[in-house]
Amino acid sequence: MRRTLSAAAMILMVSFLALPAVPHGQGHGDAMYASIDGKHLKGYVDELTAMSRRYRDNGHPQFWGRIIGTDADAENARWLLGKFKAIGLSDVHEQPFDLPPQWMPQSWNVSMTASGAKTLALSSAQPTYRGVATPADGLDLEAADVGFATDADLAGRDLRGKAVFFYSMDYQSRHSTISHGAVKRIGDKGAAAIFITLLIPGNMHFQFYPVASEVPTFALGYEDGMSAREAIGQARAAGTTARVRLKLDVAMTPNLKTATIWGTLPGATDETVVIVAHRDGWFEAANDNGTGVATMAGLAEYFAKIPQAQRRRTIVFLGTTGHHDGTAESGTWLSQHKEVFAKTALLINCEHTAANQLIASNNAVVRKANVESPLSWYVGGSPTLEQIAARAYQTFDVKLLDGRAAAAAGEIGRIQNLAPSLQLIDTGLYWHSDKETSDIVPENGLAAVTRAYAKIIADTGGVAIKDLMKN
Ligand SMILES: [Zn+2]
Repeated sequence: MRRTLSAAAMILMVSFLALPAVPHGQGHGDAMYASIDGKHLKGYVDELTAMSRRYRDNGHPQFWGRIIGTDADAENARWLLGKFKAIGLSDVHEQPFDLPPQWMPQSWNVSMTASGAKTLALSSAQPTYRGVATPADGLDLEAADVGFATDADLAGRDLRGKAVFFYSMDYQSRHSTISHGAVKRIGDKGAAAIFITLLIPGNMHFQFYPVASEVPTFALGYEDGMSAREAIGQARAAGTTARVRLKLDVAMTPNLKTATIWGTLPGATDETVVIVAHRDGWFEAANDNGTGVATMAGLAEYFAKIPQAQRRRTIVFLGTTGHHDGTAESGTWLSQHKEVFAKTALLINCEHTAANQLIASNNAVVRKANVESPLSWYVGGSPTLEQIAARAYQTFDVKLLDGRAAAAAGEIGRIQNLAPSLQLIDTGLYWHSDKETSDIVPENGLAAVTRAYAKIIADTGGVAIKDLMKN
């Protein structure tokens, strides 16, 4: 008897601490979410990636995407305005922002020569965001390989005036924090240029966020990084040095504009649910943030079909400017207008909502699995909100990483504490690279996350705001 009781108590404990126990597959009444269709939503991702390619093909072959302040930004803003109007949202409008001068690299070129050997074009080189330009006629520097750029690698090395190459297994970093501050350690030793090779198979272009480097700094694809390493090694073996020629022309471009796109679906009360998806992204930006925008559009379509009286809360949809420019106009404005969230029961961030799992496989290739990548999840609210979210994720078999994220990284980072909030987010091997195309976006994953968000909105409808808030 005693044994049975403690077993029952344990089951209760476990189901409370982990995920609420619900039957596998779709539960009662969840068939209603079937109208949220993955193939349809992926069509939106395709339309968005096409905008990036148009921008690239229209004279921007190196630094491209749906970049804040560009024609691609304006095109996707118009597209979203049209979508919101077609769905039947009210008060659809654009809230414009003047941008500070934007970092726009005009062109660049990097190559390496080891004496006697032919010139090696390092064509995957991509300057880190806000990276320092070279003098107009470029730089010609001696190359140095510092391995992983640990203190052991750097001890005793004279890097003054050199082009320094290092290698990193910090796969998910596109930040100044890469390899625990390697860029700074190298810069402190007087490097004149820095090259970061991410050890992810292939030869991708990676767009890094600013890395706080005072010299021209580029990311390199794995194949180019390995070729450079080999050339440096061969030159050393021959008693000579490999040299790097680099040129980077940057224009700080003034007078550009961007906008938040607003749309409202009035509910039975003036309490709100706020749905955010950032519009910008680098390269094709299929996942970051084509999927998020598609998820937001899918939610708008779904709830627009439900009679207003049956929707307790007004839903506000925000296509925000994004944050890749660092100043994040929408997020900054919202963080300064807390009144927007005065009656907000739920803030949902739609960001990188679905990608296939990518595995670094043998023979230096990345392989795509036929299952979705597990998502990092964050809930900033009461245990009730967390349980409603967990139940929805389980209902639609959304794959999750173990353990809640400490905070909502990404577009709602500045506003996550202004209302009960939540998000799912994927940051995979191809994040911020030219391989992040529609090909890695699974229709099933896109449908699953969008359905789960719809269910969370519906299931929180009967819960008072105070009972959704963090204590
Ligand atoms: Zn993003």
